[in-house]
Amino acid sequence: MIPVIAGLSFHRSMVIQTNRILFKHWLWGIAASFLAVVPLSAQRVLFGQLEAYLDDYVATLPVAGSNVYRDPQFEDQENIAKAVKLLLAGDLEEANSVCGQSSYEVIRYIDNSGAANREFWGLQPQPGSANHWGVLFWNPVSCRNLVLQCPHPKFDSNTGLQGAYLFLHMEVSGLMISGTHRCNSIAPTECSGTTSACGSSAPYRLSDIAHNAASIFQTVTINLAESGVQTFIQLHGFAKAAGDPNLIISNGTRDVPAVDPVADLRNALYDLDPSLTFKIVHIHTDWTKLTAFTNTQGRYLNESPAPCTQNASIASGRFIHIEQEYDRFRRDEAGWELLQHGLEAAFSCELVGNNTVPSASRIPKITRNGDAITISSAEEKVLSVYLNTVDGRTLFSGRQENERTYRIPRGRMTFLTIRDGKSGQLLVQKKFFLP
Ligand SMILES: [Zn+2]
Repeated sequence: MIPVIAGLSFHRSMVIQTNRILFKHWLWGIAASFLAVVPLSAQRVLFGQLEAYLDDYVATLPVAGSNVYRDPQFEDQENIAKAVKLLLAGDLEEANSVCGQSSYEVIRYIDNSGAANREFWGLQPQPGSANHWGVLFWNPVSCRNLVLQCPHPKFDSNTGLQGAYLFLHMEVSGLMISGTHRCNSIAPTECSGTTSACGSSAPYRLSDIAHNAASIFQTVTINLAESGVQTFIQLHGFAKAAGDPNLIISNGTRDVPAVDPVADLRNALYDLDPSLTFKIVHIHTDWTKLTAFTNTQGRYLNESPAPCTQNASIASGRFIHIEQEYDRFRRDEAGWELLQHGLEAAFSCELVGNNTVPSASRIPKITRNGDAITISSAEEKVLSVYLNTVDGRTLFSGRQENERTYRIPRGRMTFLTIRDGKSGQLLVQKKFFLP
């Protein structure tokens, strides 16, 4: 028998336990959770359809006004920060143990809806937890170093379902979904900006985690960014009025970054459908609606000195805020698929594996231009570089300092491995396939 727990529904997923002792412990944990939430000792393994599981999660989120959202304590931020880094390093047991102290858990989710099973890792509230801080799901074998974020899964209709669909249908690293409706809290945040989303124009609510620098959503963003996640794409929705475009896209500033993924995305979508209309906040500089300047994740990623209160002025290119009208992009899978194809064209499929993710400052910078990749060493480190093709041929094996350019053969899967030349620590693994 599987008990039914308020807050999480398992009716489309079967709970599998690794052994009997664990199972007993788990049942005891569930029984005790009615009195107090206890940390579970090992991560659970769920089997099912992850997209349906996430859709259920969104459907059961606390609604506007019920005021159950509470900000994390400092220890909770520390626990979740550690858990994110451990999860990305593949240490699921330790990650589970650490976040258990904040009523969160790390699960393995085996999606068995396709021809082959696919494994994902989830950081989510424990069953019965009152901490409505949202979820992170992670694809350990993705090839796009980007994370999708759904901060308004309820208010911006269908953006939570759209995020789940995109996470399962394109190879991206991660998906984050907020844990409540943005208007769940009564209390306002201290962060700057106002909105009329929850009534008349007022400061953002605490539960509006895209505007709350004290939120776990912010903590997870920071720790993913520090662990090497390159790009964060926030999915939003707006009510299109006369004169509005189909999409309003912002990098969080009016600044044009050196490498501009927003322009790539706009070009890719325009190629798919030339009837689409856009306002790009750093290109159409007279546009003032839904500019995302007060978004605290955007401010952080654009290196604002105070993400709660200060707009960023320089774009890092790591934050993309997409406001979507309903009919073309949010209504159904046709719209989600259109965005998917645009994103796939704008972000090439390159990254493999994330078993070792050192801090971002030590990761060498890799840029690709056609069939040439240039590797620049961070902090003047000596690097050991290995380039091998899928059929076992070694293209390069040696050391480099500073910067060096390599040629990638066309039509053959090529693997790049970079290690610290001194310690041998794995820094980067990528795969390239150039048609
Ligand atoms: Zn929104």
